[in-house]
Amino acid sequence: MVIIKTASEIEAMKAAGRLSAKVLRKTGELVRPGISTLELDRFAENLIRMEGGIPAFLGYNGFRGSICASLNEQIVHGIPSAEVILKEGDIISIDTGATVAGWVGDNAATFAVGQISEEKQRLLEVTERSMWAGIDAALVDGHLGDIGHAVQSVAEAAGFGVVRDYVGHGIGHKMHEDPSVPNFGHRGRGMRLKAGMVIAIEPMINAGSYEAIGPGADGWLVCTRDGRPSAHFERTVAITMDGPLVLTAE
Ligand code: MG
Repeated sequence: MVIIKTASEIEAMKAAGRLSAKVLRKTGELVRPGISTLELDRFAENLIRMEGGIPAFLGYNGFRGSICASLNEQIVHGIPSAEVILKEGDIISIDTGATVAGWVGDNAATFAVGQISEEKQRLLEVTERSMWAGIDAALVDGHLGDIGHAVQSVAEAAGFGVVRDYVGHGIGHKMHEDPSVPNFGHRGRGMRLKAGMVIAIEPMINAGSYEAIGPGADGWLVCTRDGRPSAHFERTVAITMDGPLVLTAE
């Protein structure tokens, strides 16, 4: 069941969105060769708590981090670890969320570690652009398929694969609410979009095939089947009469 938010509830969700965005930006600023994903996680957790939030991921179905840190061929849900040290040429997707006053914000971005290959650079640019195309399609009286179609068109025009097994989601008091928000689809199909829907739009785009494998032995990690790199960008977005409103913004 889709939970429609009132204008004042959407207003209240901005605090969680603002903090989630700040944590993502500041954690991303620490990305450099030699830092571990556990150090990034500790920084993010401290910042969330210092600002009066609760890490939304920590303890979620037993997850052991405040961020997901997914490198290179890892698509999503990498568990932060002292053993995973970033090195020049890596890309790292950082996904983080904060709960503030009972509302959840959720966002992600993929960062370059030093100099990266041209292919990885293009993957980052196209994935972010596909996310914004999806956001622009989140319009009252549109359809869920409009969002997926917009994302898919950008990604596939660049020759990249759109992950099917993992999708965006409704968000509110809970991190994952209805509906599921696929990054693929057909214009004019799927659920009708209404004012007051709040969704996380989060393309996961692979340089090669769309196919994913996982979760792995740790119960979480999802990777590309062909071992080629994957990128991930995400914003929490309210659908309003005035158009899409990005809540995970500072
Ligand atoms: Mg999400």
